[in-house]
Amino acid sequence: MVDTVNNILSMKVDMVVMRHPNPGAGVFLSKHINASIINAGDGAHEHPTQALVDTYSIREKLGDVAGKNVVIVGDILHSRVALSNIFALQKLGANVQVCGPKTLLPKYIESLGVGVETNLQKALQWCDVANMLRVQNERMDISYFPSTIEYTQQFGLNKKILDSLDKEIVVMHPGPINRGVEITSDVADSKQAIILNQVENGVAIRMAVLYLLASKIDRNDD
Ligand code: ASP
Repeated sequence: MVDTVNNILSMKVDMVVMRHPNPGAGVFLSKHINASIINAGDGAHEHPTQALVDTYSIREKLGDVAGKNVVIVGDILHSRVALSNIFALQKLGANVQVCGPKTLLPKYIESLGVGVETNLQKALQWCDVANMLRVQNERMDISYFPSTIEYTQQFGLNKKILDSLDKEIVVMHPGPINRGVEITSDVADSKQAIILNQVENGVAIRMAVLYLLASKIDRNDD
């Protein structure tokens, strides 16, 4: 890490976009270089710009985030998207619930003021928006559920469950999708899914973040 810091210092950069496997890597770097650090995902910890993308996409689709019921479904334990989404959604006044197998729900999660549900049907019936997380096999060192088939049976979103609800919910996914695991293709490709809108909004949101940080640099130079 020290070598990385020295290399970055030599380049005299104003901004660093950093994706790193270690939680807190961005904070560490920010203490050593005089540049704006954009956390593009630090391990299973946080992914702030994804949360900006997701909250913006909800606002674009539903008009507002405040007062909406949003459930984040799946592998909460290994998800950097979940934690940043919880913070952003709560800040904007949404009600947040997490849903998944108990083994993938961190013990501290309730202390963040989110609801906890282990029954997908109930969670979907409660929500206006369901954010389906990818099962992050690459971050699992042990088995957290008996089999992928069992996970899909209990926590996978398919058209049958979606159509059984008495309302039309919005379906999100931070990508990349494990088609047929946490979400079936007919749901991912349905008009209720805004997954590709999230991807499209990702460009504008990240441009906005860079723009705002760049303006900050200009102001400091005045
Ligand atoms: N789509 C996201 C990204 O690649 C998901 C993640 O990193 O967790 O930025």
